[in-house]
Amino acid sequence: MTEPVLEILNLRKNFGALKATDDVSLTLMPGEIHALIGPNGAGKSTLIQQISGALTPTSGTIRFLGRDMAGMDMAARARAGLGRTFQISSIAPEFSALRNVILAVQARQGSSFRFFRPVARDRSLIEPAMVMLERVGLAARSRIPAGELSHGERRLLEIAIALSLEPKAFLFDEPMAGLGADGSKSLTALLSELRHVAPILLVEHDMDAVFALADRISVLVYGRIIATGTVEEIRSHPEVRRAYLGE
Ligand code: ADP
Ligand code: MG
Repeated sequence: MTEPVLEILNLRKNFGALKATDDVSLTLMPGEIHALIGPNGAGKSTLIQQISGALTPTSGTIRFLGRDMAGMDMAARARAGLGRTFQISSIAPEFSALRNVILAVQARQGSSFRFFRPVARDRSLIEPAMVMLERVGLAARSRIPAGELSHGERRLLEIAIALSLEPKAFLFDEPMAGLGADGSKSLTALLSELRHVAPILLVEHDMDAVFALADRISVLVYGRIIATGTVEEIRSHPEVRRAYLGE
C-alpha cells in the first residue's frame, strides 16, 4: 500500500474559546493535488500554518514522510522538504529575480559562507537557478529586480524559490488570489505540472482552478472537515452545496 506523504491526525487549534481547526484529519498522497476549500474563517490558513510550523497545534499529529513534525520549527520543516506557502514572502525586492533564486539555491546547499563570494560569476549557482526560472516561465525576466515584477510574476518567482528547496510536498495558500484571469490560467497550468515534482495541498477560493486541478477535495467549515471526495463527489454533495456553495 502507498504511504501518504503528509498525514494529519486529529489536529486541533484553539484560539481561546474558538476552535479554529477542530479534530482535522487528512492525507496527501504521492502525485496528488488535494484541495482544501471552505468559507472565510473556516480554518484553512490555520491548518496550513500548523503544517508549515508557523503555528503550534493545541493537539494532534502532523506526520511528514513518516516523521512526526512536533518540535520542528519552520526552517527545519522547509529543510525536510515542506514547500512554503505564500503567506511568508521570501522575496527580496531589491534583488533581481535570478539573485532571489540563487539565494534559495544557496540556502538549500546549506553554506552560509558562499554568501560572501561573488555570486554573479558562480556557475554552480546560476545554472540551477536559471533552470528553476525556466520551469516557471520567468527566464526572460531573470535580470529584473523582483520589486518591479508584476503580481503574477512575483508569485511565479515564489514558486521558483520553493522549487529550488527541492520540496517533497507543496503547501499553497490561495496562490490565485489577486491574479487576473490570464495569471490564474497560467498558474493553473503550472500547478498541474508541479504535482509531478511533489504532491500539493492547495487552499484555493477559485473554484474553476480547484475543479480543474484537484484529485481530491476536502471541505472545511467552522474548523471541521465535513466532506472529502473527488470533484464529482464534492460537487454533488448535498451538505457541501448547502454549507459552502450557498444552495
Ligand atoms: P481561513 O483561512 O479559512 O479563512 P483562518 O484559518 O484564517 O481561516 O481563521 C480561522 C479562524 O481563526 C477565524 O475565525 C479567525 O478569525 C481565527 N484566527 C486566525 N488566526 C488567529 C489568531 N492568531 N488569533 C485568534 N484568532 C485567529
Ligand atoms: Mg486563509
